[in-house]
Amino acid sequence: MTSNGGIKKLGILCSGGDSPGMNCAIRSLVRTAIGDGIEVYGIRRGYSGLLEGAIEKMNESSVGNILHYGGTILQTSRCPEFHEAEIRKEAFNILKRKKIDALAVIGGNGSFNGAHALHTEHGIPIAALPGTIDNDITGTNYTIGFDTAVQTAVDAVDKIRDTASSHARTFIVEVMGRSSAAIALHVGVCTGAENVVVPSDNIPFDQIASDIKRGIKRGKNSSIIICAEGKVPGLSYKIQENLKDNHDIDAHVCILGHIQRGGNPSALDRFIASRMGYVAIKELLAGNQAFVTAFVEGEVTPAPLKDCLAKRNEYLPHTVDLVRALSI
Ligand code: ADP
Repeated sequence: MTSNGGIKKLGILCSGGDSPGMNCAIRSLVRTAIGDGIEVYGIRRGYSGLLEGAIEKMNESSVGNILHYGGTILQTSRCPEFHEAEIRKEAFNILKRKKIDALAVIGGNGSFNGAHALHTEHGIPIAALPGTIDNDITGTNYTIGFDTAVQTAVDAVDKIRDTASSHARTFIVEVMGRSSAAIALHVGVCTGAENVVVPSDNIPFDQIASDIKRGIKRGKNSSIIICAEGKVPGLSYKIQENLKDNHDIDAHVCILGHIQRGGNPSALDRFIASRMGYVAIKELLAGNQAFVTAFVEGEVTPAPLKDCLAKRNEYLPHTVDLVRALSI
């Protein structure tokens, strides 16, 4: 770490699941840093690549023409060994040998926990940029990729609705989000779903069935149920089975899966990711040691990394109410 809080060499990595807009964040970090006289090093494949020493110098052109692509040019990975302090020490020594004196980590809350451990154990300054489609990180109201993932799912459900109407069918569409229901609830509102099922120990099977029947009674010829995947995908099959066995309702299941993780980032994701990259560099230069570029009240603002390590799993009750109010 150098004196003016100013950094001389910055490492950048992506970790955990990829999300659309990560490239915009990389581009912004690289160009802002170079503009401020910092040398930039891209670390491939997250913490795994760091441990392998897969580190390359980047320049302004390294990030040319990537803004509109999903995924991440640096690639990403999951690295279970990083849970071990000894392995993190090895990672820190690799950074030290390369004279990298700050790290920008783009990822979800798992990646943030790894970065926080590296910071507390070895003192390296960390800028953590929230990048996950799930929008489930404490301390920030937005994560890079969420808007694009919601739009991708909305486009898919619109297509499914065509078939559902033409054949007078019920579809259960399962969307991503792990234990977060944020994608499901937003997609539910934006597609006029009859119901959104969030992961819970008490799935309201009877209510789902009575909602479908009420719709049919008042002349609806199709129903869309949006189901959040929860920890283990496949809840939609349980709902399908229950509707058939207990309510004599035939429903088709469509699990959208990984199409929601890719694709060209939306304008919102491009904008917020670009802003987060810029703020990250300015904060590092100002001497901020361990922070998240959080999106709070419409602004990107630094939040202490230690306060953003938990998963946020808000049930978003007002969104649940909205779905119910509009689906009568
Ligand atoms: P995400 O960052 O998208 O939440 P993961 O939870 O899979 O994705 O975490 C990504 C990586 O971050 C893990 O593979 C591991 O290398 C690192 N990581 C996660 N949790 C921790 C932890 N508690 N301590 C150290 N490293 C961690």
